[in-house]
Amino acid sequence: MNAVTQEAAAASPERLRLTEIFLSLQGESRSIGWPTVFVRLTGCPLRCQYCDTAYAFHGGEWWDFDSILAEVARHGVRHVCVTGGEPLAQRRCVALLERLCDAGYEVSLETSGAIDIGPVDTRVSRVLDIKTPGSAEAHRNLWSNLPLLTAHDQVKFVICSREDYDWAKAVVAEHGLVDTCDVLFSPSFSQIQPRDLADWIVADRLPVRFQLQLHKILWDDAPGR
Ligand code: SF4
Repeated sequence: MNAVTQEAAAASPERLRLTEIFLSLQGESRSIGWPTVFVRLTGCPLRCQYCDTAYAFHGGEWWDFDSILAEVARHGVRHVCVTGGEPLAQRRCVALLERLCDAGYEVSLETSGAIDIGPVDTRVSRVLDIKTPGSAEAHRNLWSNLPLLTAHDQVKFVICSREDYDWAKAVVAEHGLVDTCDVLFSPSFSQIQPRDLADWIVADRLPVRFQLQLHKILWDDAPGR
């Protein structure tokens, strides 16, 4: 955005601070593999030890909603993922999600699980993290989010160790999560062998979906991919 449009966006009540908007393949979740436009909002109140998007903690630029919608439309795909950082840390994110749904997109939201998802449009597929002890942010889990989940939503655990796996398994059972929505288990990339996690899931016949982050395999986690 140029300086003039930046200034106009900063003055708009319908604005958000964004780190980037880009087209790629969805690398995880139920929509894995679909060409998807990612709208990455700036800022996150958490500090997970494995965070791979720390570049979105600060900076960014103001974008008004019309400019965001126009940029999304320019890419010409059906799937849009609003992510961060923690997108819900900016209150107006909820209104943007509604605008994207109204425009006919398949919309997903990647959220840390630390902020109330109640106000989010139910047309949005909410991909809710449950932070494990290994993340160093498990104390931020907002457990009151879990009863709000529907079959349209997904929960995701990033597993850092065998202890994390056992903890996640207990949480899944305690909250009956597999009867509510898709449950995704991912290995924390540099901390456990993906094959170990796969073996544990198979040995336990755990009804969760193992996933590897496709964008890391394809593009080595470069920003904007
Ligand atoms: S919630 Fe997401 S963006 Fe925020 S620190 Fe954790 S991994 Fe990074």
